[in-house]
Amino acid sequence: MSVHAGSTHSAFARDRRSARQERCELCGTPVASRHCHVVDTGRRGLLCACRACFLLSTRCPAGEARYRAVPERYLWDPRRPVVRLDWCGLGIPAGFAFFLRRGTRVTAFQPGPAGAVETTLPAGLWAELSAGHPLLAAAEPDVEAIVFRGTERGTDCFLVPVDVCYRLAGAVRRYWTGPDGGPEMRERVGELFAEIGHRARPLR
Ligand SMILES: [Zn+2]
Ligand SMILES: [Zn+2]
Repeated sequence: MSVHAGSTHSAFARDRRSARQERCELCGTPVASRHCHVVDTGRRGLLCACRACFLLSTRCPAGEARYRAVPERYLWDPRRPVVRLDWCGLGIPAGFAFFLRRGTRVTAFQPGPAGAVETTLPAGLWAELSAGHPLLAAAEPDVEAIVFRGTERGTDCFLVPVDVCYRLAGAVRRYWTGPDGGPEMRERVGELFAEIGHRARPLR
């Protein structure tokens, strides 16, 4: 998974000294530092988009469109928290992982200093988890992800726009120091999770 190099989104913005104008990667129109994204399902990449191109891509029927608009919703499920996940014992380097569904395949991404390690989940495991946790089933393929984070209290679980995962993975790669990531990486990732927690609405 490549880091979204062109982004200057909130947590990164203050680190960026260059005043390079960002542009819509579909039509070339200049965009503000906070802007929309679409997923290019052909190349499996994230593209910055102006509002017009974003809206255009929301109108294409899902499944047919090459460019799919990344929704802006954040959700969590207060009634059915994920208490424990077995794969949490696998040694996730940055303390969190996210899951993305593409077609019938679900891929786990574990961000680390060299990028995110991808693992395809065994068929059936996601369906099994989703049966008890409707939040997992609510994520739209390609454009929304489920992020799990281990905390002292247990496991936090959110449904997030997929561009947020690029920001999280980018922060891990950019700020990682030493064998365990170091304090700055943890602080930056913590800030992003605080923002996610702040924006998340309960699943109904
Ligand atoms: Zn555009
Ligand atoms: Zn962007």
